[in-house]
Amino acid sequence: MKVRTRFAPSPTGFIHLGNIRSALYPWAFARSQGGTFILRIEDTDQERSSQEAVDVILEGMRWLGLDPDEGPFYQMQRMDRYREAVRDMQDKGLVYPCYMSVADLDALRERQMANKEKPRYDGTWRPEPGKQLPPVPEGVKPVLRFKNPVGGVVAWDDKVKGRIEIGNDELDDLVIARPDGTPTYNFCVVVDDIDMRITHVIRGDDHVNNTPRQINIFRALGYEPPVFAHLPTVLNEQGEKMSKRNGAKAVTAWRDEGFLAEGVVNYLARLGWSHGDDEIFSREQFLQWFNLDHLGKSAAQFDDAKLRWVNAQHMKAAADEVLAPMVAAHFKARGITPDERLPRICGLLKDRCDTTIALADWCERFYKPVQVSAEERAKHITEGVRPAVSMLAKMLESVAWDKAAITECIKEVLRATGLKMPQLAMPVRLLVLGTTQTPSLDAVLALSDRETVVARLQDA
Ligand code: GLU
Repeated sequence: MKVRTRFAPSPTGFIHLGNIRSALYPWAFARSQGGTFILRIEDTDQERSSQEAVDVILEGMRWLGLDPDEGPFYQMQRMDRYREAVRDMQDKGLVYPCYMSVADLDALRERQMANKEKPRYDGTWRPEPGKQLPPVPEGVKPVLRFKNPVGGVVAWDDKVKGRIEIGNDELDDLVIARPDGTPTYNFCVVVDDIDMRITHVIRGDDHVNNTPRQINIFRALGYEPPVFAHLPTVLNEQGEKMSKRNGAKAVTAWRDEGFLAEGVVNYLARLGWSHGDDEIFSREQFLQWFNLDHLGKSAAQFDDAKLRWVNAQHMKAAADEVLAPMVAAHFKARGITPDERLPRICGLLKDRCDTTIALADWCERFYKPVQVSAEERAKHITEGVRPAVSMLAKMLESVAWDKAAITECIKEVLRATGLKMPQLAMPVRLLVLGTTQTPSLDAVLALSDRETVVARLQDA
C-alpha cells in the first residue's frame, strides 16, 4: 500500500505554527515512506475563507519546504463531485430527508437538556419498517440525514491516542446536505479522503469527535477508513490553545523575522514528536527518523526561547553563502548595498545571532557609519590609549590587508606602548564597529575596509 497523506487547512485565518505542524507530520510521513503528500484547501466556509489566508498557507508551506505532490485542491471547486456523492448516497438508501424545522430542533434540544440528556436528533424522520412518518410539511425543503448504524461501536486504533471506541447510539444521524443541497463539512471530508485515496489522516485532535461519524460514512460507501493519528493541541506560552485570537503570529511572520526554515522545521518537529534525546537535526535526519510511533500524547507548549535557541543552532550550521543572500535581502529593505565581503562577515558573526535579522543588524556595522555615544567614548577612549590608537591607525595605512599582518601591527603597538590587549582592543572595537562586543579584533579589521578603519581610528 502506497502511503498517501494530506494537509487540509481551512483558510479562515492566517495559519500559525500550531496549524502548520499539522502539515509537517503528514508531509514527513509521506516523504519518509516514499508516499504522496496532498494539499487540500477546505474553503467551503465562504464567509470566513479568504484568498489572503490561502496565500499564507501556500507561502508558509513553500518557505518551510513542505511541498505537496498533488494539489492544492479546493473544495469549492469540487461541489459537483459532492453533489454527485450525495445522489449516490440517496440511490443507495443511505440517507433520508428530514423536515424538522430549526425551531423544532431547538425545542427538542431544550427538552433533552432539561432532562439532562445529551442533545441529539431523535430520528423523527428516519424511515423504519412499519413506522409511520409524520406528514411532509408543505413548502419546506428537507435536509438529508445519514442513517447512522444502530447499535454496535465504531472503533479505531488511533496512532496517537490508542484505541478509541464510540457507541453508535451516541451518534445521531448526521446532516450531509443542507436544504439547498450543499453538502456539509464532514461529508465533503470523507468524499475527498476517498477520492484522494488517503491512507493516513494525520490532523489536530479537535477533529477526534468527527472521526466516528466519518468512519461510518466511509463504511456506508463501501470503503475501509484510513489510519488516523490525532495530534494533541499546541498551547501558547500562557498555556492556552494557540490561536490567532490570542496573539499567534502567521507562519510567514517568522520568516519575515529572520527565522530559518530549517530551524522552524526542527523546532516544530520536536513539538509533539521525539527521537530519543535529539534536539537539533537536519531535515534529512528528521525524514529518516520520522514515524507515527513516537508522536507525543500530551499537549505541546510553544516556547519562544527554545525556538530561538534551535534557530541559533541552525544559524551556526548554515553555510556563509546561504546566509549572505538572506542578509542581503534585509539590507535591501534598509537601503544598504552589500559587497563580496558579506559571506565572510556572516561567517564571522553567525555564531552570535539567533535570526538573520540579528545577523543583518551585526553585518550592518561593516557597511554603515557607526554611532559611538559620548558616554562609551569617554569610558573607553582615554588619554592613556589615544596615542596607541593613532599609532595603530598609522601602521594600518600601509600594511598588507590580511589577518596575519594586522595581528603583527597590533602586537607591535602593544609592545611599543606597554598596553595590554583589552586596553587597546576595546577602543578599537568601539571606533570600528560601534560596540566593544565583537569577535576577534584581527578578523574584524581584516573584513573591514582599510580606509574606513583608518578614518574611524583617526577619529579617536
Ligand atoms: N479543515 C480542517 C481544519 O482546518 C481539517 C480537517 C481534516 O484534517 O480532516 O481544521
